[in-house]
Amino acid sequence: MSLVPLLELSGLSVRFPAEPRPVRALDGVELELLPSERLVLVGESGSGKSTLLWKIAGLLPEEAEVTGSCRFPALGRAPVPGRDVGLVLQDPFTSLNPVLSVGEQIGEVLVTHRSASWSAARQAAVVLLRRVGIPEPERRVDDPPHRFSGGQRQRIAIAIAIAAGPRLLLADEPTSGLDTVVQAQILDLLDGLVREQGAALLLVTHDLAVASRIADRIAVLYAGTLVECGPAVRILSDPRHPYSSALVAIARALEAGRIDALATVRASPGEPEAAARGCPFAPRCAFAFARCRVERPAWSGDRRAGVACHLAVP
Ligand code: SF4
Repeated sequence: MSLVPLLELSGLSVRFPAEPRPVRALDGVELELLPSERLVLVGESGSGKSTLLWKIAGLLPEEAEVTGSCRFPALGRAPVPGRDVGLVLQDPFTSLNPVLSVGEQIGEVLVTHRSASWSAARQAAVVLLRRVGIPEPERRVDDPPHRFSGGQRQRIAIAIAIAAGPRLLLADEPTSGLDTVVQAQILDLLDGLVREQGAALLLVTHDLAVASRIADRIAVLYAGTLVECGPAVRILSDPRHPYSSALVAIARALEAGRIDALATVRASPGEPEAAARGCPFAPRCAFAFARCRVERPAWSGDRRAGVACHLAVP
């Protein structure tokens, strides 16, 4: 029996007005996410991964021009941000309110979305702080965010995001700026929490090592286009798109301490007009041939797995 997807993106495109021409942030993305699944979106800066997350969270600015659809079939209605969808941002310094205690910030979610009284919400905040690994939560619940370390602040941001029991947890580079030990702890925490709650996780990162630690499936975005998607084990062991291959090669080389591998992908994205006509990756692809510069490769696959490259075998 096939599961009803929690999230379904169909032909999703997003453009932002700009001079001399609009910026195309996403172009025809097809993706789905099942309940309890963990999908990691990988891509470099400017690939559109954060735009995708913000669209799903319902937080795109008004001027964004959106075509295609973003639906939640398993919910059967539009999600309520904060209740059905929780969001963990990259920077807990800015995502937490500096003038409210951490208990008030967690409690606010429960009062708003679960009709809790403030005294019940405070007690629940203590439980949540303990669950995300804050020591002595009874004593710390009334502290403001600046009394916590960077890693602890990210744990508190996670407690706020899961407080209402969302069906989907979105995480935008949640381990950036943290040292590697704390990074691993935060990923393990996210992994454990979504398993306990039976929630789905959609995490975006530029770091394939992060994806390898937590993902069931990996989707690779390049210049707003989905170039490859599939089971994490397969993408990491047998990537089919040249850009995915380069990311895997770089991640392996960095793991082995070989920073010379950073030259694997040419640094410049090339001429945007040329990329718009053909394959967006052509200006940087070591395998590009004449057809790549004039014909955009079609997506070969479905919303769960596929690749967009003239050289990839379906
Ligand atoms: Fe490279 Fe051509 Fe494949 Fe694009 S379509 S990734 S340029 S081989």
